[in-house]
Amino acid sequence: MSKTYIGNYIHGAVTRASGERTLDVFNPATGLVTGAVGLSTAADVDAAVRAAQAAFPAWADVPPIRRARIMNRFLALMNEHKPRLAAAITAEHGKVLSDAAGEVDRAIDVVEFACGIPQLLKGDFTDQVSTGIDNWTFRQPLGVVAGVTPFNFPVMVPAWMFPVAIAAGNTFVLKPSPTDPTPSLMIAELFREAGLPDGVFNVVQGDKVAVDALLAHPDVAAVSFVGSTPIANYIYETGAHHGKRVQALGGAKNHLVVMPDADLPKTVDALMGAAYGSAGERCMAISVAVLVGDAADRIMPMLEARTRALKVGPGVENASEMGPIVTAAARQRITGYIDLGVAEGATLRVDGRGFSVAGHEQGFWLGGTLFDHVTPDMRIYKEEIFGPVLACVRVNTLDEALALINAHEFGNGVSCFTQDGHVARDFGRRVQVGMVGINVPIPVPMAWHGFGGWKKSLFGDMHAYGEEGVRFYTKQKSIMQRWQPQIATGAEFSMPVAK
Ligand code: NAD
Repeated sequence: MSKTYIGNYIHGAVTRASGERTLDVFNPATGLVTGAVGLSTAADVDAAVRAAQAAFPAWADVPPIRRARIMNRFLALMNEHKPRLAAAITAEHGKVLSDAAGEVDRAIDVVEFACGIPQLLKGDFTDQVSTGIDNWTFRQPLGVVAGVTPFNFPVMVPAWMFPVAIAAGNTFVLKPSPTDPTPSLMIAELFREAGLPDGVFNVVQGDKVAVDALLAHPDVAAVSFVGSTPIANYIYETGAHHGKRVQALGGAKNHLVVMPDADLPKTVDALMGAAYGSAGERCMAISVAVLVGDAADRIMPMLEARTRALKVGPGVENASEMGPIVTAAARQRITGYIDLGVAEGATLRVDGRGFSVAGHEQGFWLGGTLFDHVTPDMRIYKEEIFGPVLACVRVNTLDEALALINAHEFGNGVSCFTQDGHVARDFGRRVQVGMVGINVPIPVPMAWHGFGGWKKSLFGDMHAYGEEGVRFYTKQKSIMQRWQPQIATGAEFSMPVAK
């Protein structure tokens, strides 16, 4: 099969990266190489930033309502091209098509939110702060902003960033994951069709070389990052060192607490989707079930039977519930964690190792894996595995469950399944996690609420999208104004006060 070259998108044109380096792109369900993505040099990044910088003054000056109209056309195109986008995600990531379509839907939600930018940018005005003087505050765009995104949501995570940033008047440089780079160019193509001026949205493909060039570039005002915690930490520190505004969302280890009064069949459904959907490669996947009291013995046989029955197969087949792992290296890492869990003494109830799909033997397969009797000292409890591995921990009380969760270094998402309103309220108030679900396993906030974890799951103080996103991509300006040419005030040497 011929390899498609996947390049950059700079100032409205698809270009090749200037260096010789490329990375193979795979279809994880077949294990075959389908493309080669160019790995950009610092010079390519500079070209993208210069294009964005040149486009910025005119774009920032376009009235917000007209920026919103372009965003509206882009919204219509995203809806129209949803099947193509979903197919491109499945081809390079592996997730099942219905899940990929859901990802595109959640991206579209943020685009729709960004169409309301005139209202979101409306400032505050105070008439007569002093006699004859008015004061108002409003928000202006930052300039060129960059987004660095992970492999696991090649459409949705970039869309946590660019719709709000661009609608607010910034210009944007996206550095997507080199593992599944194609959807970023499809987004660029749809923006061009929507009438976005050249240079407002740019894509540089690449790896650490491109990221480091963005972090050091003097004309990049802000960086949004989503990915693993060590890299998030590095981006936050390096970006801040170079004087940039940074938000860096990191990894996760999300717990789902099963109270003894929970509706168990519904809880099992929720756990299956949240642990094994997208092969567990979601930052909001549930990777730990905390089984309280006698819920453990009652739910375990149900969970075991359902995990054994999980339908794993190519994402393009309707019957598949879970697709392959994204790369051979990721499968090896996850398999290593399953080996480790056994060595650490956890009970392996369902073993996903050695799984294969007939006719697709070269694909990066792994079955759903279920561990029981996992304890907090084990590495399979502490570390992010990012695969279809559910670790079950047994505790006696809600207080114990909360203590466990609150001691964990990550704090992205969490969930509690119960039928008791008081337990639900208590849990929501006391848990040290940024996004909480009550009888909702994956509580990804809607576009107008903003997304962000706590602790090692987010570096920076602003969440992604929603009004926090608008604040991140804008800076406040205050104007105080007097128009009384007939009044001679003379020089004033004391601190001005209201008169
Ligand atoms: P990753 O950290 O390996 O890569 C993310 C981005 O950083 C990519 O664009 C990559 O090219 C770049 N990068 C990688 N190494 C780098 C380095 N040394 N220096 C500079 N840049 C580098 O993450 P991934 O494997 O693509 O994605 C999975 C991770 O992302 C998981 O840890 C998952 O929890 C996390 N994630 C978090 C969220 C969230 O909202 N908190 C959402 C999605 C994914």
